[in-house]
Amino acid sequence: MQASVTSIARKEAIQATARELLKFVNRGPSPFHVVAECRSRLLQAGFQELKETEKWDLQPERKYFVTRNSSTIIAFAVGGLYSPGNGFSLIGAHTDSPSLRVKRRSRRNQAGFLQVGVETYGGGIWSTWFDRDLTLAGRVIIKNPTSDQIEQRLVHVERPILRIPHLAIHLHRTVNENFGPNPESHLIPILATAVQEELEKGMPDSGSPTSQMDRHQSVLMSLLSAQLGQSPEDILEMELCLADTQPAVLGGAYDEFIFAPRLDNLHSCFCALQALIDSCSAPASLASEPHIRMIALYDHEEVGSQSAQGAESLLTEMVLRRISASPQNVTAFEEAMPKSYMISADMAHAVHPNYQDKHEENHRPFFHKGPVIKVNNKQRYASNAVSEALIREVAARVGVPLQEFMVRNDSPCGSTIGPILASRLGLRVLDLGSPQLAMHSIREMACTSSVLQTLTLFKGFFELFPVVSRSFAVD
Ligand code: ZN
Repeated sequence: MQASVTSIARKEAIQATARELLKFVNRGPSPFHVVAECRSRLLQAGFQELKETEKWDLQPERKYFVTRNSSTIIAFAVGGLYSPGNGFSLIGAHTDSPSLRVKRRSRRNQAGFLQVGVETYGGGIWSTWFDRDLTLAGRVIIKNPTSDQIEQRLVHVERPILRIPHLAIHLHRTVNENFGPNPESHLIPILATAVQEELEKGMPDSGSPTSQMDRHQSVLMSLLSAQLGQSPEDILEMELCLADTQPAVLGGAYDEFIFAPRLDNLHSCFCALQALIDSCSAPASLASEPHIRMIALYDHEEVGSQSAQGAESLLTEMVLRRISASPQNVTAFEEAMPKSYMISADMAHAVHPNYQDKHEENHRPFFHKGPVIKVNNKQRYASNAVSEALIREVAARVGVPLQEFMVRNDSPCGSTIGPILASRLGLRVLDLGSPQLAMHSIREMACTSSVLQTLTLFKGFFELFPVVSRSFAVD
């Protein structure tokens, strides 16, 4: 039997969109890189960069973005029919993922190995970090010797330089029953050996006792400074994530899967970003828009969102207030919130064929069957009948199927930025995400169709939400 022309065309469209996600993931090994990638895509799409420190002069039908700490980004487009007090159509997601992070004094020497001390960040499945070809990415603060200015630079070493090897099974007979690595002592990656360093020792090993050279392996500092084109002494501070060097790829016999790191939550970041850009690319669409279309991609979700740039910070409210502010309408912000709606976009657990009983039998999201509405009456997720009904109407109009997830009563439940922003701002929030497997593993798994489905839903949300919500008021 031959596949029809339409089904071939559809598969090509699905794979093309999924490949765009792969690029985005491969360019985002740290939250700083994710924000830099979003920034460059937004600039290319005609968005203008705003600074929190400056006065904003916002115009209808124009597009803007602002970053905080280079790890959180909020982008928005002002509708042509927007006036203060109108609502916000918002999609939120997070830029961070569980990872190992280089400690401030990372130099470790054990048994002739040069190692790098790391701290666990977020709830990673740390056993998956063993036997992977690891590298480093993040930001470095340097003192520019020519200008004497302090500057931030991004760094990403694009080759495997670190490794956390397993202990041989011969020395750990119960490894398959109870691996359970100790996160302090068993996760320290190896960078080099003392023997090899001895042989290579042409490099300067100077540095005052307080310098980075003293706190980190000198070969690590040499690597980073070579990458940056700076001398090691110019490096003042750094925040570095470990990352897998294996790129994200399509997989499975039919190339229907995505094998990738950080799908939680770069999948949602990508779909939100691209939906905002695409929804504004037809000028007519923004001209007749009464709302502000906005995406907010936050750092620090994986560690509880309490930071200057996390979802729990005042950042969102400050940005929403600045946009709403009007001398003619002093309650514009308060009027806008009940008209607003946020999709809290974060990945959902697809049912695992080998562990089906971990899902309640009526709530088993499956690959290819659409984005998943996440519900928890204990408010681990913020969806409710109102926010669900509204998104179902949007999804029906753009032809995207939806699934539902509720956790079993005897199982713990994750949470998202959804309840945080719902309680802070009082807007309607829906928790929704694409189905994936192996969440918080160093290498996760999703399906290709989920990218196009989520992107289509998000774009439809931006374009249709003001119309869909107009006739529907609860209070
Ligand atoms: Zn997440």
